[in-house]
Amino acid sequence: MLQSPRAVATNSSTYSIRTVVVPHRLELALFRALLDVRSGVNRLMPDWLERRTEPRFTATKRTYPWLRAAYPHLAAAWCTTIANETSAVRNAWRRALRRARHSPERFVRLNDAVPRRRRLKASLHPGLFRWNPVLRCLDVTIRRGAHVHIDLARLQHPLFWRYGEAANWRFGLTLRPSALLFHFRIPRSIESAVGAVGVDLNFDSADLATSDGKCVRIDLRPITRLQERCAQKRQSIARQLSKDLRHQRAVLRRYQGRERRRVAPLLHWSANELLAHAGLRALVLEDLNDATQSILRRELHRHSPATNRRLSAWTHGRLVEIVRYKARTPTVWVNPERTSQECPRCGGQLALPSEGKVLGSDGRNRMTRQLVCGECGGSWHRDVAAAIAVLARGCDILRGVTIAPSARSALLEAATWRPGSSDRSDGRTSSGLTVEPMKEDDAKSGPPSVVRTGSKAVGPPRRRWGR
Ligand SMILES: [Zn+2]
Repeated sequence: MLQSPRAVATNSSTYSIRTVVVPHRLELALFRALLDVRSGVNRLMPDWLERRTEPRFTATKRTYPWLRAAYPHLAAAWCTTIANETSAVRNAWRRALRRARHSPERFVRLNDAVPRRRRLKASLHPGLFRWNPVLRCLDVTIRRGAHVHIDLARLQHPLFWRYGEAANWRFGLTLRPSALLFHFRIPRSIESAVGAVGVDLNFDSADLATSDGKCVRIDLRPITRLQERCAQKRQSIARQLSKDLRHQRAVLRRYQGRERRRVAPLLHWSANELLAHAGLRALVLEDLNDATQSILRRELHRHSPATNRRLSAWTHGRLVEIVRYKARTPTVWVNPERTSQECPRCGGQLALPSEGKVLGSDGRNRMTRQLVCGECGGSWHRDVAAAIAVLARGCDILRGVTIAPSARSALLEAATWRPGSSDRSDGRTSSGLTVEPMKEDDAKSGPPSVVRTGSKAVGPPRRRWGR
């Protein structure tokens, strides 16, 4: 039962928000205004909670005259700001209630307490601030005739200036006692995307297939190796520690934080590498939400403890998050189901080759990356085939992006299984069998660019390659 490709969600917003934090000791007048915002929020809250079903705009309108009377020394837009912040606190409280619905006592405790704003913070109404592009200073209004000028001409913050220019100095502003938060609204130029790139994420590699026929592999093994080392370290520590659970937990938490901090830069490097290869192409990613969980649940009994540990430490979610954040081109999400079981030539079902099963020392099948199509008999590299399937699904969604016949044959050529060169299941040789880790040039010089053009035409194109 092959499912038709469908879009899970399309990232169609034409703007992306980039926030820049500028450290700044707030001027006294603004600090006082922040105090007023906090007291205003806390005074409004009981009233807003009494009328639970009242929409935010109605509540703002109803309480506005009272706010104006209570804070006559602030401009009118400050009252709107106070109402907006009240709404934000109320929403956060509602979210917390929703999360707490599974533990009754926590729910009751939250439900009985009136939420309070404790931090000093305000996201200003756009009428309250102005940017002067000539003097490079920010002008914040307290009330008519009372302004605060913040001179930023000598600010050394490359991102601030770059994002500011890109956003044409349209931004939202949040005040905190020790920082200014600029939320720049940067147009995302959909037109700038040329072609598309499908990304298939695996344990130890990210495979890319582009609509102009390039296949690239990005090595993620440094990350998995680091995680493995950290897991071993944690195990050996747990063995030596006292049996006091509380003590153990505290120590292990420290080591977990260490792992996170060491993995993060590797993830950023991999994401940068991926985006450098993607260039101006639109990104097609698998919508892998809950994927690890469902795999774990479905196949828990089938995996060894080591595989389970790797599954739960799998960092694809964080990698995708970083890639998405850094991407300057549109992102398209596709259904991840069966992408690695779809023949890149005919769309038929792929299966493990019967002679390709290699038994490990534990009697289990070793993973081979070779797959054979049951319909056309083609023999494919699993990861490349999956990347091509992701790309094809993305092209179905992205109107106007197609795969040219020459690019198509180049992709098929790259996905064709070549015995001896690419079975890199583990690198470990427990059964006396030498498994070549990767091609030599791969291991040394990062991801190889498998680009071959001008190959023989392959069969009648029965598979859809985008409209
Ligand atoms: Zn086939």
